[in-house]
Amino acid sequence: MGFGLRQDGIQPVRLKGRPAGTILFAIRHLLQCLADSFLPRHCLSCGTAMSATSAIDLCPACTREALLCGPDVCSRCGAPSDSPDTCICHDPAFETVDMARSAFAWTGPPRSMVLALKYSRKWELARPMATVMAAVWAASGGGLPDLVTSVPAIPRRFLARGYNQAALLASAFSAISDFPADNFVLIRQGPPQSTRGLGANERRRLAAGSFHVRNGRDVRGRRILLVDDVLTTGATVSDCARALKSAGARRVDVLTFARSVHLP
Ligand SMILES: [Zn+2]
Ligand SMILES: [Zn+2]
Repeated sequence: MGFGLRQDGIQPVRLKGRPAGTILFAIRHLLQCLADSFLPRHCLSCGTAMSATSAIDLCPACTREALLCGPDVCSRCGAPSDSPDTCICHDPAFETVDMARSAFAWTGPPRSMVLALKYSRKWELARPMATVMAAVWAASGGGLPDLVTSVPAIPRRFLARGYNQAALLASAFSAISDFPADNFVLIRQGPPQSTRGLGANERRRLAAGSFHVRNGRDVRGRRILLVDDVLTTGATVSDCARALKSAGARRVDVLTFARSVHLP
């Protein structure tokens, strides 16, 4: 169930390839451009008004708060140095991932943004969120991916929600960074039965077998950047990366908007 459905649902984030020729669209676009140049922009995280010329939608204070890449994070998994417990590099499952980076800690306004994108259909958040992710990726030294893709939603949830927030982020990230994106690379199979009552290990075992690459030609010999909204234990992205590498991907990196951390 759910295979072949567009993971980005009804494609509310139409950043490229708009149907040309409608006068209404042209007028709206012109008005939006005028508004963008005259109205103050607001920090994505705290809402402070900022200069219209800022490259990313973050005020200086929130930029310092963000887990922007630098010497203060684990070079591989991106865990901040002031939260060493968060490093997941020791987990054997994570060996399938070459490098991971996240924009924010999973707390405060960034957490609210993810929840609003995921549950409240605030699709307009995808682009500003992806703008920050693009800045984080550019600063990470992670290089140029051949292909951007996203963690597919569990089919049952995707059918109920009608879209996949990770695919929205991947599409917006691709439009901003100009890396090609394909949200149909991975297929996710839901657990065959309810996992209620099963232990953590058993649930994990069921989840581990649930990702497949649709067509090996899409990934063979290529560098893949896998996008998701939140990194928690790393189990899901590790499983995706295992499927991608089994299908011949040369490298798999992970980029998420938020990451759970244990800050002191
Ligand atoms: Zn701010
Ligand atoms: Zn690490």
